Amino acid sequence: MSKPENISLYQFFERFPNEESARVYFEKKRWNDQIVCPHCGSEKTSECKNHKPMPYRCKSCRKHFSVRTGTVLAESRLPLHKWLMAMYMLTTARKGISSVQMAKELGITQKSAWFLAQRIRECWFGKDSDSDRSDKLEGIVEVDETYVGGKNKGMHAHKRKQHTRFSNKQIVLGMRERNGNVRAFHMEKNDRSMAAPIHKHVEKGSIVMTDSAAVYNHLSKSYEHHSVNHSVGEYVRGQAHTNGIESFWALLKRGHYGIYHYMSPKHLHRYVNEFSFRHNTREFGTMDFISATLTRAIGKRLKYSELIDG
Ligand SMILES: [Zn+2]
Repeated sequence: MSKPENISLYQFFERFPNEESARVYFEKKRWNDQIVCPHCGSEKTSECKNHKPMPYRCKSCRKHFSVRTGTVLAESRLPLHKWLMAMYMLTTARKGISSVQMAKELGITQKSAWFLAQRIRECWFGKDSDSDRSDKLEGIVEVDETYVGGKNKGMHAHKRKQHTRFSNKQIVLGMRERNGNVRAFHMEKNDRSMAAPIHKHVEKGSIVMTDSAAVYNHLSKSYEHHSVNHSVGEYVRGQAHTNGIESFWALLKRGHYGIYHYMSPKHLHRYVNEFSFRHNTREFGTMDFISATLTRAIGKRLKYSELIDG
């Protein structure tokens, strides 16, 4: 594999100076010179001049389409160039980027920037995402859960009382191959339900490292299970530690509290996927990251109403 190419902001604008260059790039990535109708799969298409925003027409099903049709970009009216710039920003910001800053850089409202970023995050979730992969983590795998959110500050006193210490904290379960990739999930409960994702993503017979939480006791049935007892100050015993997944949690939390300030439970899975995707593509160059994101945009959609409800 050749060395990953990271491009500077200056190089980025040299390469993508305008909307047309972004459109050509998006079309090349999606169709690679053979335009295919996203409605019916036909290759018999024609270009209609002056037919924005749907510049192509299918001769088989007669429908019009654009490179956005059938992707997570379909419901957005923002220029492709701004989509590309936003993806660029999300590759380079290790701790994430706030919608306020993205709005400022792109010259759009904060609300638009927030929707745009959520839609890009949607690419990293679900089908073809790291949590959807069929290949499993193996060797030494660290498994741990963390709790995020749940600041009670802005809440009325009577409401605050109803919340016990962890009740509005959200649980994220994570697995990390030693010095390697991460799979992470927003979970409803920190109980035996965490077994299913672990078995799905960690190869049977692997060496699994956890802390001494009782919820991991069952792992010794399928894995060589070692645990360190954090409650008595034990963090490393030989190969047994969970420092790798914990450094991932540290990054997620720096993003949560420092950049995003708040990740609502409803959208938390997307932020978690943002951090794991960026981690797992850490050896990709800038354009490979953007390209991998675009590949995952196909066949997904995120409606405005799904973003704002609840
Ligand atoms: Zn068609």
